Amino acid sequence: MDYLFEGVKEFSTKDFNHFRELFEGLGKKQSPHSLFIGCSDSRIVPHLITKTLPGELFIIRNIANVVPYYRSSEEYLSTTSAVEYAVKMLNVENIIVCGHSNCGGCNALYLSDDELKETPHTRKWLELVRPVKERIEKDPELVKDTVKREWVTEQLNIVEQMNHLLSYPYILERYNKKEINILGWYYIIETGEIFNYDKEEHLFTIIE
Ligand SMILES: [Zn+2]
Repeated sequence: MDYLFEGVKEFSTKDFNHFRELFEGLGKKQSPHSLFIGCSDSRIVPHLITKTLPGELFIIRNIANVVPYYRSSEEYLSTTSAVEYAVKMLNVENIIVCGHSNCGGCNALYLSDDELKETPHTRKWLELVRPVKERIEKDPELVKDTVKREWVTEQLNIVEQMNHLLSYPYILERYNKKEINILGWYYIIETGEIFNYDKEEHLFTIIE
């Protein structure tokens, strides 16, 4: 545990000085250009992979980079409220849904109820990805080839969540007026490559 405190000490006494001016400017306000919706996975580092600085990305992370369908509710809605804040209060220009390779959340879709019995909230959360699983299970090739099934699930999930964003009335309105961009990215951990979803061609192409 001590390494956590050591890290904080090193940040505040050394690293912070490199960014002092930036942080002083950010001290009283933020105006991020993009909302980044990524997986909670420890290997995804949004600022690193986009070469952005503090203040540029408003970030939501959850298991499998999920965007719940829009609904009004009296519940405490974490992802929904963060989307609302980013779009309506901060007026972000871009929303990025970033999925990734070897996603444990996407893989968990194929675990049995018994295997998920100790993680009931994870199981419930992943119901939001279930339409993807149902589509995949209709394809006999994907049922057999579990390696391919893995990355197809991860990619289809990105597209599914991009579509969920359009169920938010205020996002749909801005999207139709071309006031907001919705991007889908697929990040491959071991190569550092990111593929962007081409809405016309319905496929992911490498960003280079
Ligand atoms: Zn993941």
